[in-house]
Amino acid sequence: MSQQHSILIVEDEEPIRVGLEDVLVFHGFAVESAADGRTGLHKALTGGFDLILLDLMLPGIDGYAVCERVRAQDPEQPIIMLTARGTDEDIVRGLRLGADDYVAKPFSVVQLMLRVQAVLRRTRPLAALPVRFTLADGTEVDAANLSAHRDGVAIAELTRREMETLQYLAAHAERPVAAEELLHRVWGYPKQASPETRTVAIHIAKLRRKLESDRAEPRLLLTVRGAGYRLRLTP
Ligand code: CA
Repeated sequence: MSQQHSILIVEDEEPIRVGLEDVLVFHGFAVESAADGRTGLHKALTGGFDLILLDLMLPGIDGYAVCERVRAQDPEQPIIMLTARGTDEDIVRGLRLGADDYVAKPFSVVQLMLRVQAVLRRTRPLAALPVRFTLADGTEVDAANLSAHRDGVAIAELTRREMETLQYLAAHAERPVAAEELLHRVWGYPKQASPETRTVAIHIAKLRRKLESDRAEPRLLLTVRGAGYRLRLTP
């Protein structure tokens, strides 16, 4: 699971947005950007980014609202606010809504990169994936042995990729995970690659065949329409 860190830039001022893209690509990040709040929010909710650089004053939905909605879905999503005014009030409000840090515009590249690297260091420290976990129907999954047991009886053997997919979903069981995020995080595809979400769909189908008692009506590995897949663990 090694890949470049990915960053989403949500910024409506073109010179700043393009400047940020150039700097971040130069520093080895995979970069995507959005020029308004609505597009930014959609990308943020479906993209599985390591970090979001979020301008506050945006057309459509403002940065505060984007921050709040993203946080509601993924409490651990690292966010750095870009604030034009840099007034205490903006900063306090943004931090209260869950941003990790802020950078006041205009900023220097050095200043920005220090903040970016600091946030990435402390927020996603190679999140350890769970090795043993129990699904909602009592099936016990053992990643070390690539196996699943129910009532002490082995019911399935999983491939490594199937298991990594399951582990990633288990680590984020509180929310649906988009196919694009799985491709990026589990398969290690760069963010810009054309999403081959069919690959993910095929793996999900295989997992259902192995784990669900009725795969026409999944009760463990759910499809959340328009959002992705969600794994149900034991409460
Ligand atoms: Ca703006």
